This record gives sequence, structure tokens and C-alpha cells, in this order.
Amino acid sequence: MARLIDGKAVAQQMQAELAEKVATLKSETGIVPKLIVILVGDDPASQLYVGNKERAALKAGFESEIVRVPETISQSDLLDLIENYNQDKTCHGILVQLPLPNHINDQDVLLAISPDKDVDGFHPMNMGQLWSGHGSLIPCTPAGIIKLLDTYKVELEGKQALVIGRSNIVGKPMAQLLLDRNATVTIAHSRTKNLAELARQADILIVAIGRGHFVTKEFVKEGVVVIDVGMNRLADGRFVGDVKFDEVSEVASLLTPVPGGVGPMTITMLLEQTYQIAKNKGLS
Ligand code: NAP
Repeated sequence: MARLIDGKAVAQQMQAELAEKVATLKSETGIVPKLIVILVGDDPASQLYVGNKERAALKAGFESEIVRVPETISQSDLLDLIENYNQDKTCHGILVQLPLPNHINDQDVLLAISPDKDVDGFHPMNMGQLWSGHGSLIPCTPAGIIKLLDTYKVELEGKQALVIGRSNIVGKPMAQLLLDRNATVTIAHSRTKNLAELARQADILIVAIGRGHFVTKEFVKEGVVVIDVGMNRLADGRFVGDVKFDEVSEVASLLTPVPGGVGPMTITMLLEQTYQIAKNKGLS
């Protein structure tokens, strides 16, 4: 029976430590890390996510502001708004909540955020640095997964790792972080053939697809470590992961639950990276 990877507990511990680090930074330099979250429109899921981010930030002693703009905002007005925060010396981290309305080009928006305030790590410059093995601002979900694997002392070197999903925010950066740790990494996606057979060879299986209960016991070998990134909302409002938890937990050695696994770590890494930017500013 798999041991649970308790992301909620790890995140709480890290956030408590962060609160102490923030208090120290403030008393030694007068700097308070500040996170700006820009929310375009009123998508209910996005509202929930940005609310959670702001609450966690304030609890850890950060300054945080949700800047709400209407869904009809023009792209140029949105870029101007971002530029204001790029120039604002009191603001350390800027995040634009995705998805954006269709009339706004995601890539233009990500490019507009100053790379040194890009706490989500989505700017092509930060992506490129990650791929060249010198990442500093890293997409928060994969960064949080590495932290969980470290906390649970999962050996990565020389292990077979399979990442299912190749998005820019999860799958691709996840693969690179595993490669940095000397795992042998395979990336699978919707055109991959014989996926279950491929997955059964993995020692570490990271699943980021967005399809509830997709990964069954046919995908896993005895003792595998499984990280379930999926967040799939059921008709009754509950969330389930991409992994069929009950089946897979009988075979895996370690497994993240949904909710309470990867999700809380994503917010924690966002705060950690905002703190690091503010701290580096204090040192410069
Ligand atoms: P995404 O951009 O939609 O990417 C999904 C990936 O899964 C794509 O690469 C796709 O392949 C692949 N895929 C889809 N169906 C597949 C199949 N049948 N077999 C194999 N691969 C398949 O999604 P995402 O943004 O990476 O997010 C993935 C999941 O993680 C979602 O449920 C999301 O809500 C969740 N998530 C959670 C957090 C958190 O903090 N907990 C953060 C981010 C995302 P193709 O490229 O070939 O289309």
C-alpha cells in the first residue's frame, strides 16, 4: 500500500518557515516581498486560484494585491498595466492569471513581464535558462514537485522517469528538472503509442494530463512513485486527479492525493520565488 505524499503538510511547514524569513528580511532591510496578481475577467476558477494565492501571501507576511481588470480590456492596456508594475520598485513578483480572453495573445503578455519579476517562470528567457540548466525562476508546479520528491527522499539519479503531458507550465519544465537530477526522462503525450506499457517501465511517474482517473493500475509497476498533477472538477464540484487513486495506491510505493498533493506546493513555490527576488534585491 502506497505511502501518501502529504503536500499540504509540506506546504504548511514551508509557508511557516517563509513567514519567518520574510519577517527577518523586513527587519534587516525594510523590504517586504510584494506579489501582484493580475486577473482579467471573472472566471470563477481563476477567482478561486488568485484568492488562494493572495490569502497565502498575506498570511506569510507578504504584501499582495489582486489587480482586477475587465474581460474587455484591450491588449495594449493590459501590456501598459504590466509595464507599470515592471517599473514599480516595491513590486517583486508579477503574475498574470491564465487563461486570458481570446482577444489577448498569451505569449505577448508573458513576454511583457520583466523576466526578473516573472514569478511563474513562464517568460521565454526563464524557460531558456531552465533548459540550459541554469534556471532560477522556475514554473511553480514542477518546482513544487521536485521539493516534494526531495522531502520524501526519492532518489532520482539513474531512475527511469516518465512525464505524461508536455505543456509549457507543467510537463516540459518537469522533464528538465528531472533531467537536472540525472534521471533518465521520457515525455509522453496524446500521440504516444502503447502508453500503459511505457508507463510500466517507470520508477517515477508524473501525470499532468487533465483527464480524471486516466491512469489505472495497468500503468504502474510495483513500487513506483506517482505524482498526480491533474485537477479535474466533477459535476458535483469535487476535484479528482488524473490517477485512479484507489487502484494505483495498491501498487505504488509513494503517491500524491488530489486534493492535498501537488496543489498546495504550487502556491508555496510562488511565494518562495517572490521572496527570493525580494531578498536578492536587498543584497544588491
Ligand atoms: P494541458 O496544457 O492541457 O496539457 C495536457 C497534456 O496532456 C498535453 O501535453 C496533452 O498532449 C497530454 N494529454 C492529453 N490527453 C492525453 C492522453 N490521452 N494521453 C497522453 N497524454 C495526453 O494541461 P496542463 O496545464 O499541463 O495541466 C494538466 C493537468 O494538471 C490539468 O488537470 C491541470 O488542471 C492540472 N494542473 C494542476 C496544477 C496544480 O497546481 N495542482 C497546476 C497546473 C496544472 P498533447 O500535447 O499531445 O495534446
